[in-house]
Amino acid sequence: MVDEKSKVNLGRCIGCVNCVAICEVSAMKLVKREEEVVPPKNIMELYQQIMMKK
Ligand code: SF4
Repeated sequence: MVDEKSKVNLGRCIGCVNCVAICEVSAMKLVKREEEVVPPKNIMELYQQIMMKK
């Protein structure tokens, strides 16, 4: 909550759309991020991505 209003933490939002689906006053909408993040295809690709960042 910020100034008595809810605020989305964009660093943690995974785009599940649950907040959009349940909002009774249609206050929420999804906006596409400028940078597209493609999740790893499998656990090995995930580990490779983690190791590349270290
Ligand atoms: S889309 Fe809405 S409910 Fe889903 S993670 Fe983001 S803020 Fe939370």
